Amino acid sequence: LNELFSSLPTTIFEVMSKLAMEHSSVNLGQGFPDAEGPETMKQIASKAMYDFHNQYPSLLGVPELRQAVARHSLANQGIPVDWATETLVTVGATEGLAACFLGLLNPGDEVIMFDPMYDSYVSMARRSGAAIVPVRLRLPDFSVPLEELAAAVGPQTKMIMLNSPHNPSGKIFTRTELEAIADLCIRHDVIALCDEVYEHLVFGGAKHISLRSLPGMAERCVRLGSAGKTFSFTAWKVGWMTGPSRLLNPIIKAHQFLVFTVPSSLQRAVAHGLDRESEFYLSLGPTLEVKRRYLERELAALGFGVLPAHGAYFLVADVSKFLRSGEDDVAFAKRLTVEGGVTTIPISGFYVGANPPTHLVRFCYCKEDSKLEAAVERLKAYL
Ligand code: PMP
Ligand code: GLN
Repeated sequence: LNELFSSLPTTIFEVMSKLAMEHSSVNLGQGFPDAEGPETMKQIASKAMYDFHNQYPSLLGVPELRQAVARHSLANQGIPVDWATETLVTVGATEGLAACFLGLLNPGDEVIMFDPMYDSYVSMARRSGAAIVPVRLRLPDFSVPLEELAAAVGPQTKMIMLNSPHNPSGKIFTRTELEAIADLCIRHDVIALCDEVYEHLVFGGAKHISLRSLPGMAERCVRLGSAGKTFSFTAWKVGWMTGPSRLLNPIIKAHQFLVFTVPSSLQRAVAHGLDRESEFYLSLGPTLEVKRRYLERELAALGFGVLPAHGAYFLVADVSKFLRSGEDDVAFAKRLTVEGGVTTIPISGFYVGANPPTHLVRFCYCKEDSKLEAAVERLKAYL
């Protein structure tokens, strides 16, 4: 048995969603939206199935989607992409990330990652033999400690991994932070891997800037997107990536043996979405902002410390006031599900470095207003 995987616990998202079901809790834990994406995309996907698009498409993805991905990159971030050599369609960003780690890293390489981080990065990067060098974002706004970041770069550093807008915090990396990261990548000849699955989920006057759009970065940066986030179809598991062919080539070799390809019916629908449904994804930010402001206000009134954010659909709250003696974020989140009927995600598990904070939980608020209101009522009654 593989030592790393046989000792891994089940992901916290699965654990908390199962617990939420068992206790009929309002699930503000795992990140998935109540409101689904455009109807036309569903129609195109099902029609494509009936039109005989049911055999293996090219391992790179269907040309329509790869062309749409290239147009989307240029239109939204001003980054020109050659669809034929610089795009790849993946089984969600999750498989894209795994293919990047497997295709780009060697044993002994170091990867700088910002702590806290989305849980899939850690094991997949380690399984490729690389070591993770965590750089902890500073509370309360999850800002980048620039000096610590510079000090973390060493002779073995192969890659800096960036997730903006960020899960679990909702932080958007600022231009200053991005410029500092770009400068380090260029000076030390380091690759950047950018998980930008929440690229359109931005509000409060903030703007998402892709690291790949900065001078000198297009040739050293791979950037990932997801239809799960952009079109609120998390079960479709269609993702994409753009990057220079020199980096994409070994990633494609990993992808061809991980999954080979992605259902073509869904790819066709996502191609339509990227080309024609920008109204949908551009409306996500303003809709989410209203929900966030509501939850912020209610949680603050109850005594939660709400941490600032400008993107994604997560709100991190300080629950110190509610912790019982000896209780950490995991125990609190479980108690809140079982006794209070509201489910959150404890975020200590998103940290790789020693002594993670154990007083923070994440609320996911891309939910119907009635569900958010029900959660608030339950919190009022319980806490
Ligand atoms: N990266 C981040 C930061 C995420 O939050 C998610 C959400 N699951 C993913 C990647 C994976 O995306 P997908 O569902 O497209 O695999
Ligand atoms: N990305 C989602 C979240 O952070 C969950 C994805 C998953 O369950 N693996 O909540």
